[in-house]
Amino acid sequence: NQNLQGKVALVTGGSRSIGAAVAKRLAEDGAAVAITYYGSPEKAEAVVRDIEAAGGRAIAVKADAGDASAVRAAVKETVNALGGIDILVNNAGIALGGPIDEITTEDYNRMIAVNVTGVFVATQEAVRNMKAGGRIIHIGSSMVRYAAFPTASLYTLTKGAVAGFNRSLVRDLGPRGITVNTVHPGPTDTDMNPDGGPVSKIVGPGMAIGRYGKPHEIASVVAYLASPEAGFVTGADIVADGGFTA
Ligand code: NDP
Repeated sequence: NQNLQGKVALVTGGSRSIGAAVAKRLAEDGAAVAITYYGSPEKAEAVVRDIEAAGGRAIAVKADAGDASAVRAAVKETVNALGGIDILVNNAGIALGGPIDEITTEDYNRMIAVNVTGVFVATQEAVRNMKAGGRIIHIGSSMVRYAAFPTASLYTLTKGAVAGFNRSLVRDLGPRGITVNTVHPGPTDTDMNPDGGPVSKIVGPGMAIGRYGKPHEIASVVAYLASPEAGFVTGADIVADGGFTA
């Protein structure tokens, strides 16, 4: 399947876990891929090497998703190095939080900066450079549909903001032929939420399919939304959660 041949994709937070799987999948489908990273330069380079070894084209750009000017620069570097931007995947995200009484202002500000401002700025800069046929795909969370456990109010606040931003963008971008969608993963085996880790003890029994998701199972949904055949899907909240919130 080479249906992204000639397209350029930027995946924020592409050094590990879901973002790395998305980057590799979009490259497999033919896109030239830029990834951003912050704390894991070696892992970002390994993703680039894997894509190149499979015959694809990739670059890695250091850009803290919580630093608006770095995010803008990463979009510009993608456009300059790879010749444009057709697909933006807003994947970079963190999960600070705690009981509502105990959340610090510092954590609040960092969560808003990375999970909300980073998404806004990347989207704004990308669409300034995007032609008809463009694709914006946000990674939300199934927590927006179902509050599975306490201590996640701040995380859910940021993901709800992303889902609302996504829906409203259809009116700005639909006339330009650009679609915008949010993929809401349920519990997925990553560094953030390892299968067998503390969260899995709570949510594991709620998985209708009886297991955690794998990063490639989120990547395949993103790949569909990025593809030319998904041109009529916009403003959607696509849940990929193994039935967790059904
Ligand atoms: P991981 O923590 O396993 O990986 C996070 C990725 O994002 C890494 O590549 C990391 O790169 C990057 N990242 C984190 N902070 C920054 C930053 N400030 N600037 C740039 N890159 C950053 O997370 P997941 O793969 O599990 O999560 C990916 C997305 O999916 C997130 O938005 C998360 O909220 C969402 N999600 C995850 C679920 C799950 O169960 N795993 C469920 C629902 C949603 P680096 O190490 O280089 O900083």
